[in-house]
Amino acid sequence: MRDVTQDADRKAGYECFDCGNVVDGTNPGTCPECGSTMRNRGTPME
Ligand SMILES: [Zn+2]
Repeated sequence: MRDVTQDADRKAGYECFDCGNVVDGTNPGTCPECGSTMRNRGTPME
């Protein structure tokens, strides 16, 4: 039996509010490109 997770639907990583830069993995805190706030892409926001 496989261990199915929801990770495929919930893209991990963080997206920059300002420039749209995407960083995989843990929260970098601020965008490495422009230093703006990063948003968790895994958070369901419609
Ligand atoms: Zn940015």
